[in-house]
Amino acid sequence: MRRNVFAACATLAAGLGLAVGLGALSAEARDRASGQEFRLLELEGRTVRWTAPAEGLPATITYAFLTGPKDFPGARNCDSMLPPEAALDASRISSEAFREETRAAFALWEEAANVVFKEVPVADAGILIGADAKDRGRAFTNVALKAGSQRGVGSIRQSLICLNPNQPWKIGFDGNLDVYDLRFTMAHEIGHAIGLDHPSPQGQLMSFRYVEDGRTLTAGDVAGVHALYGRKGTRQPTPILPTDAASSAALSFPAEGDRAARERTFGLGEREARAGLR
Ligand SMILES: [Zn+2]
Repeated sequence: MRRNVFAACATLAAGLGLAVGLGALSAEARDRASGQEFRLLELEGRTVRWTAPAEGLPATITYAFLTGPKDFPGARNCDSMLPPEAALDASRISSEAFREETRAAFALWEEAANVVFKEVPVADAGILIGADAKDRGRAFTNVALKAGSQRGVGSIRQSLICLNPNQPWKIGFDGNLDVYDLRFTMAHEIGHAIGLDHPSPQGQLMSFRYVEDGRTLTAGDVAGVHALYGRKGTRQPTPILPTDAASSAALSFPAEGDRAARERTFGLGEREARAGLR
């Protein structure tokens, strides 16, 4: 089976690892052993998440589909975005169909964890969804951290999700791994947008390869989102995991100043060879 790489950037490849309870094993071994492999996104050496109103209450995370062009100066990717239609029209996918797929993608996470997603006007949204104004990769998520976040856990300020306008898109699986399914793509990117990183090349929805095995969260994805936001319907304090010391020591960001350190970009669809992974 051909496998496309879901995402890659150098910092990710070097990345960090939260090997939950199975730290001595390789990624593949962890996968086989537990099936619950996940990795929390870290910015400035901290795990990050959207802030909940109070401990134990669900985090309400807002989102919007861009309705016009919008620039995000300083974002490492998705810095110039267009409405999603710019990426959909050539594939003859309607705005409404894309919105339905995106809502289904949000629902996967919402059904699993103590989070609520709410569509709001663009000006009020925490997650902004659109097309990339530039022809690059397949899809990207840019995660930006609030300055002055509390020690230990960083608060996400804004996440941008952008789709390449010059790539074909589809709804549903057909075995053609050169054309990405929108629900799968959006579910993966939303995972980044709420604080998850790539745990492995393959095996979870949050793994970086594009595969057409299923469009649901895996055990690892669910364990990851529970670690950030808690289980659905519980009011227990959210069990953010402590940062693994060895992992954070291995983490290095490009020396691009504070702003770069507060933002993390994920790219979807870089070719494996070009990405230099594995
Ligand atoms: Zn990714």
